[in-house]
Amino acid sequence: MKVKEILSALDRDFALENAEKWDNVGLLVGDADATTEKIIVCHDLTRDVIRRAVVSGCQVIVSYHPLIFKPMPNVTAQGYEGALVAELIKNGLSLISVHTALDHAPNGTRPRLASVLEIEEWSDLGGYGLFGKTACSTEKLELFLPKIAKKLNADGLKYYDAGLPVRVIGAGGGSCGELIEDAKAAGCDTFVTGDLKHSRFMAAAGLGINLIDAGHFETEFFAADIIADALRVEYPNADIEVCTAGSTVGIWRK
Ligand SMILES: [Zn+2]
Repeated sequence: MKVKEILSALDRDFALENAEKWDNVGLLVGDADATTEKIIVCHDLTRDVIRRAVVSGCQVIVSYHPLIFKPMPNVTAQGYEGALVAELIKNGLSLISVHTALDHAPNGTRPRLASVLEIEEWSDLGGYGLFGKTACSTEKLELFLPKIAKKLNADGLKYYDAGLPVRVIGAGGGSCGELIEDAKAAGCDTFVTGDLKHSRFMAAAGLGINLIDAGHFETEFFAADIIADALRVEYPNADIEVCTAGSTVGIWRK
């Protein structure tokens, strides 16, 4: 497989031109004409993922999150991104990212999140969120919290309880706190996302909507699997491995 062929396959599946303007998708590091026998798919490009690629003889890594967002003034071993870019180049690896193209794709992260939250019929919420009636509704939020923690494999949740039963859920994978107002306006009683600032919980209290922060990775944990599954259809005989090592953070509770 050539790197440019893998890039074309991902473009066919997820329409890379549909990524957000602020995003950075496509071939970020490497050589479009290089070849590989194996592809590793990850959530974030980490040192662990690079190590895995090197020991397994893989030349191409496809990450959900882009390693490079903004123009990099330098590439040095002292910078976090620079050190990873240098490692990629030193080991002859190419890096492709899909990120918000996957979020917008009809077969991307949103239908999977809807399925995890048991929302059979969902509607668009602000372009990259979704909402709908859930089959796992509960009379009280406190009864819904253990359910969602299990579904998202979250070790802990932050939440605001507005005293509403859980029936219509709004959700956005990763960091979609800006959609809380839209969720309320759409008739949601509960909104689920990750990476929330304190002020977003205050907004939920003011609006009167249940709010759950389940974690950034936890609300999009399936992204690498979606990419890998699509590549397995494109390349049925290829060695395609999912490696999310280094993408999770711990939660300590007293
Ligand atoms: Zn994310």
